[in-house]
Amino acid sequence: MKVVPVPCLRDNYAYLVIENGRAAVVDPSQADPVLSAIDAAKVELSEIWLTHHHWDHVGGIEPLVERCPLEHVRGSKHDAQQGRIPKQTDALSDGDSFDFGGASVEILEIPGHTLGAIAFVSEGNLFSGDTLFLAGCGRVFEGTMAMMSESLSKLRTLPADTKIWCGHEYTVNNLRFAATVEPSNPDIARALSEALATREARRFTVPGQLGHELATNPFLRFDEPAVAAGRDPVASFTALREAKDEF
Ligand SMILES: [Zn+2]
Repeated sequence: MKVVPVPCLRDNYAYLVIENGRAAVVDPSQADPVLSAIDAAKVELSEIWLTHHHWDHVGGIEPLVERCPLEHVRGSKHDAQQGRIPKQTDALSDGDSFDFGGASVEILEIPGHTLGAIAFVSEGNLFSGDTLFLAGCGRVFEGTMAMMSESLSKLRTLPADTKIWCGHEYTVNNLRFAATVEPSNPDIARALSEALATREARRFTVPGQLGHELATNPFLRFDEPAVAAGRDPVASFTALREAKDEF
């Protein structure tokens, strides 16, 4: 499975996913950068996968539907019921899977950022939308803190070598916050200097790797004794998220 990051807007990522000649795009906030990526890869787009309904993830759907012979616009059942993903054809729930060029793609419901948030997991790749970022997580807009911490706990159970393709390039700022949470964690300090060098070279910090995130991401480490400091897991998660909102 080939994954090509397609930077959109200021700091969004769409992803072109190619498997045996089939191509899907994840979270196209805009159509033009996606059309350029399709041309460069010499593929025909047949599917769009949406992690959630926010405008900076779905904005490119309608122009892409006009330009490409699409078979599927896949999003969550919740967002289908709300009618908030344009042109949605498939309504997905936790545990659903579908075939994509011979690869199985599994759906995980990960509510919290929004109630309809889902992840797409295939062949060691995780498309986590705005739920899990590298070194961070999304804001809790529609769900509860308990719900979001449970969703992140669910993502922690994936294999450690899972590649994480997230919805935004927020890694440097997230690691600066992580360093305030665990000032003496050497993995965080190293990750921050690497991320700074990567961005300095105008490269992407994606994909991350889950095993590395487990060592550096405060929002996957909220129940580690060094981070929780005696608080129960949800209270610890809530304190971290509220502190990040102000960071
Ligand atoms: Zn969002």
